[in-house]
Amino acid sequence: MFQSIAELNTAIPSCRGCSLGGVNLYCLARGNPASKKMVIAEAPGKVEARQHKVLVGPAGILFDKIWASVGWDTNDWFLTNTLHCEPVAPKGSGKENLLPLEEQKKACRYLLDEEIRLVEPKVIVLLGKVAVGSILPALKNEPMRNLRGKSFDFGGILYYVLYHPSFILRSSFEPKKELELKMEIWQDVLNLERLMKERGI
Ligand code: SF4
Repeated sequence: MFQSIAELNTAIPSCRGCSLGGVNLYCLARGNPASKKMVIAEAPGKVEARQHKVLVGPAGILFDKIWASVGWDTNDWFLTNTLHCEPVAPKGSGKENLLPLEEQKKACRYLLDEEIRLVEPKVIVLLGKVAVGSILPALKNEPMRNLRGKSFDFGGILYYVLYHPSFILRSSFEPKKELELKMEIWQDVLNLERLMKERGI
C-alpha cells in the first residue's frame, strides 16, 4: 500500500506488472488528489505516454474544453487511467494503439484501486467502455449508447458514464455525427453537474 499519490507515482516508471512495463511509455494521473472528484479514462495514447500525463493529447484537450463548457477546470479533478502504460500496436499493424488486454487491466488494477483509496472520491466519472468494463464489469457488454449519461451509486460513490472524447474525435470525418455526439456529451455533463449539486459534491 502507498502512503500518497506522490509515492504511488514514483512506482509507476519502474513497474513490470505486465508486458507493457519497461519501455518508458507510461503516464501518471494529473489534477488535484484532494478534490474528491475523479475521472477514470482508458489507456495512454502516444502523447500521454511520452509526456507521462493522463489526458494531455488531442482527446485531453477536447476533454478540458468539455469541462470548461460547464465552468469546470480539469485541474480541480483527479484524472487517471484504467491502464498506466501505452498498449502500443505492433509495427505494420496499421494501428497506433491496441485495446488493453484483460491481463493488462487486471495487472494494473492495483494501482487504480490504490488511487481510489487515497483520493476517497465522492464521484467517479468513467470515460468510455474500457473504464466502465473495469470498474462496473457487470455492464461491460452494454453498448456505450445505452450507458452514456447513466449514474450508479455504490459504497457512497456516485459513478457516472460519459463517452470518451477520443470517440468524438474519431467521428470528426462525419460532421453531423460529431455535432450530435458533442451535444449528447454536453447534455450528459449538465446532468452530472445537477446530480453532483443534489448530493452536495
Ligand atoms: S500497465 Fe500498469 S501493471 Fe502494466 S507495467 Fe504499466 S503500470 Fe505496471
